[in-house]
Amino acid sequence: MPDSKEQVFREKLNLERSASKVNSLVLSKLKYDSYIEKVTSLKTSSKKENNDLRFLRRYDIIEVSGITKLIHPVTDQENIKYYVFDEELFGVLNEAHISTGHGGRDRMIEQLKGKFQNVTTKDILLFLRLCEPCIQKLNHKKKGRLVVKLLLFKEVKSRCQVDLIDFQSQSDRDFQFIMVY
Ligand SMILES: [Zn+2]
Repeated sequence: MPDSKEQVFREKLNLERSASKVNSLVLSKLKYDSYIEKVTSLKTSSKKENNDLRFLRRYDIIEVSGITKLIHPVTDQENIKYYVFDEELFGVLNEAHISTGHGGRDRMIEQLKGKFQNVTTKDILLFLRLCEPCIQKLNHKKKGRLVVKLLLFKEVKSRCQVDLIDFQSQSDRDFQFIMVY
């Protein structure tokens, strides 16, 4: 998808974010970076308050090819779940969508839930509503359904079209109409 799609997504996302109540899962890049800093300093600090411990139960960091990433704390290194910040959300969703061959909601959820901690179904739906090929496919399906429905008659000649031709002005004795069947 070209960059303009990402811009539209970001605008809609921002609208949705500002309309909903404060969601603890939502991370801006700024918040994301501050959380990384907080984890780093808390880990080296000897004195931890209760809410610090709570914070560390939700957030941890890991270094991936020189970049520090925010993750959900894990004991099992195989199954690391990353936090995603809003500025990179489009890229994450787009990759999952394309790698599943324009996968729908359920396939996207399946693809993302094991890798990311804070991608929501709402985010996925927002993304899907903006994918042009998917919208067209959906519209095509809807149109197709309508045509199939019209042709679903149980028996041959169970429906017909009837019309009347008006000959009242030139009636043939009592006959004033011709019925076209
Ligand atoms: Zn698509």
